[in-house]
Amino acid sequence: MPKEMMLTIKSKYFNKLKGGYPLLFKEAIVNLNNLKEEGTLLKLVDEQKRFIGKGYYGKQNKGLGWILTRKEHEEIDYEFFERKINKALEHRKAFFVDSQTNAFRLFNGEGDGVGGFTVDYFDGYLLINWYSEGIYQFKDLIREALQSSVDYKGIYEKKRFDQKGQYIEDDDFLTGERAQFPIIVKENGVHFAVYLNDGAMVGVFLDQRDVRKSIRDHHAEGKTVLNTFSYTGAFSVFAALGGAAKTTSVDLANRSLNKTIEQFSLNGLDYEAHDIRVMDVFNYFKYAVRNKLKFDMVILDPPSFARSKKHRFSAAKDYKDLIKEAISITEDDGMIIASTNFAGFDMKKFKLYVENAFREMNGKYKLIEEHSLPEDFKTIKEFPEGDYLKVLFIKKIKR
Ligand code: SAH
Repeated sequence: MPKEMMLTIKSKYFNKLKGGYPLLFKEAIVNLNNLKEEGTLLKLVDEQKRFIGKGYYGKQNKGLGWILTRKEHEEIDYEFFERKINKALEHRKAFFVDSQTNAFRLFNGEGDGVGGFTVDYFDGYLLINWYSEGIYQFKDLIREALQSSVDYKGIYEKKRFDQKGQYIEDDDFLTGERAQFPIIVKENGVHFAVYLNDGAMVGVFLDQRDVRKSIRDHHAEGKTVLNTFSYTGAFSVFAALGGAAKTTSVDLANRSLNKTIEQFSLNGLDYEAHDIRVMDVFNYFKYAVRNKLKFDMVILDPPSFARSKKHRFSAAKDYKDLIKEAISITEDDGMIIASTNFAGFDMKKFKLYVENAFREMNGKYKLIEEHSLPEDFKTIKEFPEGDYLKVLFIKKIKR
């Protein structure tokens, strides 16, 4: 069993942490130097020795660990994790019986009561992502609780806790049956090829499910669509299935070409009728302007930070400019779909970037739709930064 120790929290943070904020952050801790071994169980008290809760020490880019309970007599043991997992399963009941979708998030860290790890479900295969050395110390308890509560074929895991929170290269197979890759999963009737043992990214970002559905069902018909930072082309495939006249997918990673062809083909679409470009998005914008190309729909889904040979992009600094680039190649009455998973700003600020971009371009717009994380990516109101996804459907209006 993990070690246990008492950790003193500054009294001015008593209400915040007692009130449900789950993240342990540096400024709140009095005896920081006492934290030694990740995975240590912490009993949190304030400077007047008032009990706050119990948690564990685990270093992530976000903080130093997570609070797991505020009940003094609740033990952090096998039954604790089992209760959390069963509650999480209850919350995803509808997904287990959905004949059109068999890929979803089964456990979403602090949103489901235990920060530091997530579990995704891909047609019976589970993928655990561990975000700190600390939570990894509980791996046997969590794995056993998962195995006893979920019907699964096999389990894979990814350790995402080296110095920079990066993925650690490894054989990711943990237990059960090894899968034949790709696993072909279904999302609202559409197929995706998923690879669980091939680096950090598996082929699809499940948190965009509702956005993809909306594009297919309501916005794609007859449209020319530019999908930037397209990865495996998930948005393009949904747009094409929704009747888009043509899609253009742009990503600079070499792998994106074959992966996009694979996703199109899996869904009975002729990829040759679409454009797939391995290229820097910022160069593509220049190319489009030079050639007077315009699109009915431009999708922006950049990583929070990216660096290519010539460009450095940071969502916080550069998103406004990215929207300006999109405005210049979007048709009047066309639509820009702007997405970010950067937790460092909220929806309000994101909308401000949109407003400023249009003002600087002397353009007019209307917000048509907005999305945050879907049901299965459960979040809690005490931790709004956990709801990191922000997506805006912006109609460009003729001046
Ligand atoms: N929109 C995708 C996910 C994007 S992931 C989806 O829905 O599945 C981010 C992608 O951006 C990665 O595939 C990465 O290769 C790509 N990327 C990063 N910087 C880029 C740049 N400057 N130009 C083009 N692609 C870039």
